[in-house]
Amino acid sequence: MSKDKIKLANLPTPIEKLSYDYNIFVKRDDMTGVEISGNKVRKLEYVVYDAMRQKSDILITCGGIQSNHARATAVAATKMGMKSHLFLACDEEVVTQGNVLLDTLFGATITVVTHEEFEHVNELMEEAKKEYEKQGKNAYVIPLGASNMIGNLGYLETFNEILDYEKEQGIHFDTIVCTVGSGGTYAGLWLGNYLAKAHKKIIGINISQSAEYFKEVISTIATDTLHYLGEQYLVTPDDINIIDGFVGRGYALSTQEELDFLKETVKKTAILFDPVYTGKAFRGVIKTLNSNPKRLVDSQKDNILFIHTGGLFSIFAKSKDFI
Ligand SMILES: *Cc1c(COP(=O)(O)O)cnc(C)c1O
Repeated sequence: MSKDKIKLANLPTPIEKLSYDYNIFVKRDDMTGVEISGNKVRKLEYVVYDAMRQKSDILITCGGIQSNHARATAVAATKMGMKSHLFLACDEEVVTQGNVLLDTLFGATITVVTHEEFEHVNELMEEAKKEYEKQGKNAYVIPLGASNMIGNLGYLETFNEILDYEKEQGIHFDTIVCTVGSGGTYAGLWLGNYLAKAHKKIIGINISQSAEYFKEVISTIATDTLHYLGEQYLVTPDDINIIDGFVGRGYALSTQEELDFLKETVKKTAILFDPVYTGKAFRGVIKTLNSNPKRLVDSQKDNILFIHTGGLFSIFAKSKDFI
């Protein structure tokens, strides 16, 4: 096992307080960088280190057509002198805008697949790796969202960054909330809390699938990371705390109410939230505080830290939704 990494992100990211009836703070992981902004870069610092240790020349990964993770991988590859090959799911004609525009600018090889084909994307990526091997190249496959035992280390480190901030600023966060899309961000924060015995509430809000699905996925990948670190604890689905009910019409699809909430929130906070991830999850935070605050806090005095995981570029691909 190796806890080494390369440096790709601007860390630590700032934390700011918002004006709501509850004490809500935002950790600006949308400011980890420009081209490489968002949460995926924290995972890639560890994953790309592992790829380089294995002397890889190509990073293969996957996601939706507007995947932030695929874009961050394309930029990381360019930065480290490697190539990237992205498998992106799209059933319609591809419009080169938002993240996929950046993928193209950063020189990624892009294979567009249907959502049906995407169900077997792990096999497609393994086949591509073999093809590269035949050409004498060494490709490295990064799973969806870089949410595996190595990628999770990025948010384990973030948890410790939050503890350092608390010490410096004399503040205590009772609850940490993040968006759940493939589970690695939540898994890392959960592990940090577990290993530091910090006893914070770590809460995820899923923007695809169901809470049950992610409790299974996250307990598995969190256990994998603990084993990788030489710890034997078995994380169970009951350890994982996910608030369901904010997926709406499905992954990367918006309702009018979600779009209206996003527009209001941008004006109120002067922070740009994205329609696919943080906009939905932050709406989940505000709605839950209104309807069932005990789910998030013990009292109104508690401090809530929302992790802004980025997603800036997808807003440009969805400009029509906002007009
Ligand atoms: C990928 C992503 C998430 C979800 O993080 P996971 O670790 O995949 O659960 C949240 N917000 C944004 C903007 C993302 O790109």
